[in-house]
Amino acid sequence: AKDSGKNRYHRYTRELNALVTKRIQMEADLRTALDQDRITVHFQPRVALPDGNTTGVEALARWELPDGGMVSPGEFIPIAEETGLIIPLGLVVLEKSLNQIQTLHQAGQDLYLSVNLSPKQFQQPDLVESVDAVLRKTGFPANRLEFEITETLIMKHLETSLGNLHRLSRRGIRLAIDDFGTGYSSLYYLKRLPIDVLKVDRSFVQDVEDDPSDAKLVETIILLAKNFGLRLVAEGVETQGQLDFLNALHCDEIQGYLFSKPLPFEALRQYLEQDGAT
Ligand code: C2E
Ligand code: CA
Ligand code: CA
Ligand code: CA
Repeated sequence: AKDSGKNRYHRYTRELNALVTKRIQMEADLRTALDQDRITVHFQPRVALPDGNTTGVEALARWELPDGGMVSPGEFIPIAEETGLIIPLGLVVLEKSLNQIQTLHQAGQDLYLSVNLSPKQFQQPDLVESVDAVLRKTGFPANRLEFEITETLIMKHLETSLGNLHRLSRRGIRLAIDDFGTGYSSLYYLKRLPIDVLKVDRSFVQDVEDDPSDAKLVETIILLAKNFGLRLVAEGVETQGQLDFLNALHCDEIQGYLFSKPLPFEALRQYLEQDGAT
């Protein structure tokens, strides 16, 4: 080893300091972005099989930089979650997406809107009240709204989760488990919870053509969904081969670059016109 222990220690603390500084900087920048209304929403179409009709869209947060660049949610959502900024950020995403998709409803387009809810948001005691307030303010129909949550979140905070899930469900809001297959969920709770939709994680869909165990896994999840009466959505579909595989297994819906990337609102409107959904 070239490094003495002492040198390694110094390199380690230097890197750690740089990391901490970067996070603190990003937190400050994110606050500014929220103040300056730089958080916007892109929409990715969700498509029904086998006909390929667009049934809805998923709202995905975007942070637009003054120079036109974009920070990926993979970078800022975890920091927003740690710092509590996810509460105001989540509200911005909810309000903006409901407002925009409601204008499509008013134009006669019957679309579902899926919004991601993070663990911190989900543990807020006034989550349901703030959802109610946004529904009232925008006039968005509760039965066209869906929330995506992760199985790990539900299992970790089962008691609070149960209450919130039931209250949201009673309003007609659909509930989806996101990234299904990556966490641990008990089939018992799957049956007990008011869940409507499972979204199979992209990491499994990606390899169905050349990894027999991933193909088996996706097939099993599809059968599981059918047996529990849940809608099954495959995420991250990029190729015709993946689509053919999912079609053969009677998967209900897909989402992925094969049909469309997440789009800014105006581009979504154009996509839907070409799609013949209007
Ligand atoms: P997610 O909820 O699993 O969202 C799907 C992600 O997969 C999106 O990334 C989407 O652009 C990407 N994707 C969709 N189809 C394909 C495909 O065919 N190929 C590939 N390679 N990727 C595909 P995005 O927009 O970067 O978001 C990343 C994650 O950030 C989301 O994963 C979600 O966990 C989180 N996120 C985004 N917006 C929000 C939000 O408003 N609130 C919360 N709490 N989390 C959000
Ligand atoms: Ca999602
Ligand atoms: Ca997902
Ligand atoms: Ca694999």
